[in-house]
Amino acid sequence: MLPGINGYEKCNGCGLCTLPCPIWRQSYDSLLTFAGRARALQGGAKIEEIRNSVDACILCGSCEAACSMGIRTVDITLKLRAAINKNNEEMPIQRYNDQALTETTILLPNAALLADKKTLKLTTGLLNIPLAKDNSQDILLFLLKKFEVGFIPEAEMLEGFLRRLIRLRQVVIADGLFKRYIRALIPELHTEILGLGEALLRLPAIKNALKPTDLYIIEARSYNMDFKRCMPFYTEISSQTGCRMNLDLQRIAIPTGGCINTETGNEFTPKSTGQIRWILEGRSFDRIVVESVEDIGLLKNAVVGVPVVHVAELAGENAL
Ligand code: SF4
Ligand code: SF4
Repeated sequence: MLPGINGYEKCNGCGLCTLPCPIWRQSYDSLLTFAGRARALQGGAKIEEIRNSVDACILCGSCEAACSMGIRTVDITLKLRAAINKNNEEMPIQRYNDQALTETTILLPNAALLADKKTLKLTTGLLNIPLAKDNSQDILLFLLKKFEVGFIPEAEMLEGFLRRLIRLRQVVIADGLFKRYIRALIPELHTEILGLGEALLRLPAIKNALKPTDLYIIEARSYNMDFKRCMPFYTEISSQTGCRMNLDLQRIAIPTGGCINTETGNEFTPKSTGQIRWILEGRSFDRIVVESVEDIGLLKNAVVGVPVVHVAELAGENAL
C-alpha cells in the first residue's frame, strides 16, 4: 500500500479502460496504461517501478470515462505523480483577494486562451461574461501549470478563491483538468460549472451554424472527466446538427494531445500526430471546428486545404 493513495485496489483488470487510452494505442504496452499501473501496485510494485507509466500519462481522462468500477483514475495518477515529483512548491496564496464580485458569471481561461486575444475577446463577448477582474488569474495559471506535475492543493488553501466562485451563478472554465477539480469542490446546486465549448454550444447562433459536414473536436479532458453529464449533451448536439465528433465507439472523446504540459511526459508520452491520425481515420468533413485554442495550430498543420476554426468563430462577427 502506498500512503494516501487508494482506489487502484478496486481494479478488477477488465481492461475496458485500455482501448481508449492513447498510450496503449501508440505503444501497445499495457504496463503504461492505468490498468497496468493498478495491476502493478496491487502486486506490490514500488512507485519508482511505475514511474515511466505515471509520467507518460497525458491525463486525458479516457480511462476514467471507460472504467467499469467507477475508479477515479485521474486522481490516482495525479497522486502518484505528486509522490514521484515530491512537488512542494509554495502556492502564491497571498496573490488573490476575496473582494466581492459584482458579476454573476465569470470565465476562467487557460494560458493559451489568454494569449489568443482575438478568440478571448470573441468568447467573452459572445458569452457576455467578463474575465475575473482581480488578479485571480495569477493563481489560476499557477494551478494549471502545477496540476499536471502532481500539485493538488487542499481545498482550505484555496478557500478565498472558492468562496468567490461559490457566490456566482455560473463559472465557465477553459481547462478540463481545472474544471474537474472545481466541480469536485463546489456543489452544483450553488454554481453551474461548464466547459468553454459547452457554454458556447448552448448559444443558438453557434449550434445552428454547425453543419453535417463539420468535424467537431471536443476538448477531451473537459468531456471525459465529466463524462456522465457531457456525453448526453454532445450526443444531442451531434444528432441535431449532424456534425461528426472526435468520439470513439464508447463515445469517449479522443484527445488531440494539444494540451500536454511540456513539464511532464517522457519518451512514452503519446504524440499528437498519432492522436490526430486516429481522430481523422475514416471521417470525411469539409471544415474542422475546435473547442481548444491549442488545437487550432495542431489541426491546421495536420490537415491541409480544410478550414480550421474555433467554435466561437461560428457565430460570425455580426453576433456581437
Ligand atoms: S488518463 Fe489518458 S493517457 Fe492516462 S492512462 Fe488514462 S487513458 Fe491513458
Ligand atoms: S476499466 Fe477500471 S476496473 Fe477495468 S481494468 Fe480499467 S481501471 Fe481496472
